Amino acid sequence: MHALVVSDLHIDAAQPAIGEQFIAFLDSDARAAGALYILGDLFEAWIGDDDDDPHRAAVLDALRRLTDGGVSLYVMAGNRDFLYGPTFEQRTGAMLLADPCLVTRFGRRVLFTHGDALCTDDLPYQRLRAMVRDPAWQQRFLALPRSARALLAGAARAGSQSHTKRQAAMLMDVNPEAVEDVLRRANVDALLHGHTHRPGCHTVVVDGRTCVRWVTGDWHAAPIIARWDHQGLRLQTLDGTPA
Ligand code: MN
Repeated sequence: MHALVVSDLHIDAAQPAIGEQFIAFLDSDARAAGALYILGDLFEAWIGDDDDDPHRAAVLDALRRLTDGGVSLYVMAGNRDFLYGPTFEQRTGAMLLADPCLVTRFGRRVLFTHGDALCTDDLPYQRLRAMVRDPAWQQRFLALPRSARALLAGAARAGSQSHTKRQAAMLMDVNPEAVEDVLRRANVDALLHGHTHRPGCHTVVVDGRTCVRWVTGDWHAAPIIARWDHQGLRLQTLDGTPA
């Protein structure tokens, strides 16, 4: 059975259409897949598994319907939603993935990653990433009252948006050496990530080996997702048109 890969939905009550479109996808096309991978930034924010936002809860319910229907669901944290825990897994039936994660299907190995760790030219962001991915920092954050976490997440989001606006576009894309490095270390010739919102398929030569880097897109305009079956992995729109 084929697998589908999505990323960067950034679901948020402020833009309810994306959440509705994703729920419709979960209740239709995703049902035909053997597995669905969500490679980070499913939500614009996730302040902990006690999150009580009704818009996000509707998405969690749809994820649960999908796994109850027999589809394997794998979720990787993004830079927006890095605080998923065991309660999220129990509620949705998802399995959380480490980042990066080597996935083997149809005899091929592909390295999955959200993509933010590859944007090494953005030094202020990488410092922030190191801080918030530290388990001790996460433990302290999750111990705060939910209302305080929501306030801090809002401030962090505003800071991130103004940082993104100030940074040169080039610094916000993946660093070619970081891409080569992650492929070399995992000893694979295929990489799939999101995060940059620049969907596409790129060829990378690492130590004389030709490798491929696929990038899934965000869901703000026309979602670009990946489909992986016995014919290989490719990018497509939601209705199956090759992208
Ligand atoms: Mn991201």
